[in-house]
Amino acid sequence: MFAGISLFSTALKHVLKMTPNVVFVLGGPGAGKGTQCQKIVEHFGYVHLSAGDLLREERSKPGSKYGELIETYIKEGKIVPVEITCSLLERAMVQSGKQNFLIDGFPRNQDNLDGWNKVMANKVNLQFVIVFDCPLEVCTERCLKRGTSSGRVDDNVDSLRKRINTFLSETRPIIDYYAKLNLVRQIDATRPEEEVYKDVEHLFQAGAGDN
Ligand code: UDP
Ligand code: MG
Repeated sequence: MFAGISLFSTALKHVLKMTPNVVFVLGGPGAGKGTQCQKIVEHFGYVHLSAGDLLREERSKPGSKYGELIETYIKEGKIVPVEITCSLLERAMVQSGKQNFLIDGFPRNQDNLDGWNKVMANKVNLQFVIVFDCPLEVCTERCLKRGTSSGRVDDNVDSLRKRINTFLSETRPIIDYYAKLNLVRQIDATRPEEEVYKDVEHLFQAGAGDN
């Protein structure tokens, strides 16, 4: 069904000599995932893979088989089927030729988690899961502000209401799942970005949860 994006299901381990390290980055829309990931890239040399950005890129490819589907899901704040997202992530990992990855905004629901666990979990070392904690009203304000210049189809009141509902009903349980595995590192993301980053930095300096 999702044959349009070539699957590299066995390629990853062959292409990458060592088992790649992965850190998942989660949090409500506008919690600051992308902003903090940029800083981690600068200081710790991880490759930043935003699932949302990869989907938007795939959507804008001329003739993309999934462009329309992705557009609709994003506008509605719904989660795109994992076969698409996971293939995009794996392809980006392989193409980077690197070893350390920040996967931002994924896995966001049970379908994402199941798909990842089925295809990817045994090929990578999941170091930990950063969760940026931010009241949803603050998240909304930040996204609406971003919406004045982001050009994103989902930084508006209508889409945001749906994205927040999706976060609460579908993503929270995924965070709970990783919390039970002792992999969650929660960070207060309400503060200015430099302050938030200090905590993030400690996490990486400590190699927290490094398995
Ligand atoms: N999305 C998705 N699967 C993912 C990541 C993102 O379907 O694994 C879609 C979903 O519709 C989401 C939108 O892309 O609401 C925007 O995600 P992004 O992470 O870019 O938003 P952010 O949380 O950073 O504001
Ligand atoms: Mg983002």
